[in-house]
Amino acid sequence: MENGLNSNITYLKGVGTKRAETLQKLGIETVGDLLDYYPRTYLDLSNTVKIREITDGEPAAVRATLVTDVSVKKTGRGGSLTLYSFLVSDGSDTMQITLFNQKYTAEKLMRGGEYIFYGKGEVTGFFRTIKSPLIEFPDNAAILPVYPLSAGVNQKFLRTSTRAALDACSEYIRETLPDNIIKKYGLLSRKEAYEKIHFPKTLNDSQTALRRFVLEELLYFILGISVLKKKNRKRVSVPLSSPVDMSVFYSALSFELTGAQKRVINECLEDLKRPVSMTRLVQGDVGSGKTVVAAAIMYYAKMCGGQSAMMAPTEVLAVQHHENLSALFSKLGVTCALLTGSTGAAERRRIREGILSGEIDILIGTHALIQKDVSFKNLSLVIADEQHRFGVNQRSALTEKGENPHTLIMSATPIPRTMALILYGDLDVSVIDELPKGRQKISSFVVNSQSHEKMYGYLREQIMQGRQAYVVCPLIEENDESETRSVIEFSEQLAEQYLRGINISYLHGKMPPKEKESVLRDFAEGKISVLVSTTVIEVGINVPNATVMIIENAEKFGLSQLHQLRGRVGRGSHKSWCFLVTDHQGQTRSRLENFCKTTDGFEISRQDLELRGPGDLFGSRQHGLPGLRLASLADMDALHDAQQIASEITAQKGWYSLPENADIAAAVVRLFGKTTVV
Ligand code: ADP
Ligand code: MG
Repeated sequence: MENGLNSNITYLKGVGTKRAETLQKLGIETVGDLLDYYPRTYLDLSNTVKIREITDGEPAAVRATLVTDVSVKKTGRGGSLTLYSFLVSDGSDTMQITLFNQKYTAEKLMRGGEYIFYGKGEVTGFFRTIKSPLIEFPDNAAILPVYPLSAGVNQKFLRTSTRAALDACSEYIRETLPDNIIKKYGLLSRKEAYEKIHFPKTLNDSQTALRRFVLEELLYFILGISVLKKKNRKRVSVPLSSPVDMSVFYSALSFELTGAQKRVINECLEDLKRPVSMTRLVQGDVGSGKTVVAAAIMYYAKMCGGQSAMMAPTEVLAVQHHENLSALFSKLGVTCALLTGSTGAAERRRIREGILSGEIDILIGTHALIQKDVSFKNLSLVIADEQHRFGVNQRSALTEKGENPHTLIMSATPIPRTMALILYGDLDVSVIDELPKGRQKISSFVVNSQSHEKMYGYLREQIMQGRQAYVVCPLIEENDESETRSVIEFSEQLAEQYLRGINISYLHGKMPPKEKESVLRDFAEGKISVLVSTTVIEVGINVPNATVMIIENAEKFGLSQLHQLRGRVGRGSHKSWCFLVTDHQGQTRSRLENFCKTTDGFEISRQDLELRGPGDLFGSRQHGLPGLRLASLADMDALHDAQQIASEITAQKGWYSLPENADIAAAVVRLFGKTTVV
């Protein structure tokens, strides 16, 4: 054992080269690896039930006595299967137990002996049994760890070798966290945590042990990111620091900015004045007014002599931004242009020249902005709207068009601050946590499809009062073609049935861009009253006069997506409604009903994260950070504590070279790779 936890696994009693090979498949090579191989769950053998209480399909532990000998029977082709069966009784009832091919276990059982039988209960009429149970002596009736397995290793082997590892090596288990942290956060010592995560006396023991390891993992994750963040800060950028009278911009607006908008604008302007590039994420719930924040900053950049580019995830959104912003900027003498995939050749040439000469101050567009033939005279600010639709790569393709331009990312999916700091750890985060004045709460309801008539009657009333509405049409299958068909058919059906005489139109992703544009313009101008659409309207569309959102087959959508869709209404001063249509019952329905109770996007994305995990919310691995083994990013309490611990550690100057943090620094390097820390 001279190498302690780094000793090869074969040092352990009972682990030969053959077993070592199978363990290797589980990623276990050293004794330390084995200790880090945590249970997936636990079996509580101490919590027994009577045979009579066994229920079908539920795991049960029964303490009972063998009342017969073990009978042996060969079956299967060529007698390949050996069945061992016997009766056991616990006073309440008797049941038969059958073991398959478990010669070793069967031969050790004795008539009159008392054992614990654990496994999945089976009930057929009066007949109860546990199929192929795990069998233990009552003295060993403890909480048993259950490990993830692979071929060639079983639970018993993992349990005994882990026990052996702990017995042989516990003196080598070093504490990795500083003493004061352990005390302050009430953590188990590392040694104790290993003991209790593998062999807890109570389920609570296993929880406290798990908490320590989860916090430790999150801590390394957060620390690694904070180092990345420091590195990013070193990117030199041209400071934008001329004196700019922002009140000129503010007085061109038709409304008063909210306090939160002003605060966030100022946070951004402070960044721009520094000689390092801004990398900031602006989060704000739907309708909180992110666009005008972007506009303010682009105005500032222009007044300092820099150009800006604003990238939107869809053409529809780019067009909308261009329309709104050019109306605003024309009053201020700032020149905007729109560049998308459907910009004609002549126009494209004109724009290319304009940005190269500096005649155009602000370029708004889609992915088209990152094409090779687009070059700027002096790109100093890049804004990505509704960021989660873009990959990190696209973001950087755009920043490469300038000399480390400042970047601002506006997120469509508001996520809790702690999580944002972690997921977008290389970014600074600003939050617009206030809605513009005069907004009314959107009333949301879950309804059955039987309520169609009533609901569309209600929609009709709103139209009569001069309002407008969206209908997200049912999705039969999730592919473009059926989506398109469904949108067209459903809008025809509505036009003939509930919405006869009302000006109704449709929108789907497969329409030519020009057509999409004209439909949206007509809708924005009020020429169309009801827009039947796929989720293409999910992101960013802003028509303040729209007050009703109907979402058919609401059960097909994630909560964050529903929140985005709902965010298309309630953007003006009129009272708005959102109807979620579903015929599903049970959990699906209650998930939707819960959604109706809250309008807080941060809370909704937290729920979504809990239900579906970050992959769904952000697109898998988009953030390009290492994966977590134990911790979940939806575990807000753990995240909060880990963040706190991390800030205590990073408050020490050069924390990673202090001797007391050596183990932590090493762990961060292990998680993120060598280049990160040093
Ligand atoms: P989002 O944050 O969802 O991108 P937008 O920027 O599209 O929101 O703004 C939503 C609507 O609110 C727009 O019509 C915008 O003009 C309006 N708006 C933004 N800020 C304010 C404000 N401070 N007061 C009133 N209306 C505002
Ligand atoms: Mg927006």
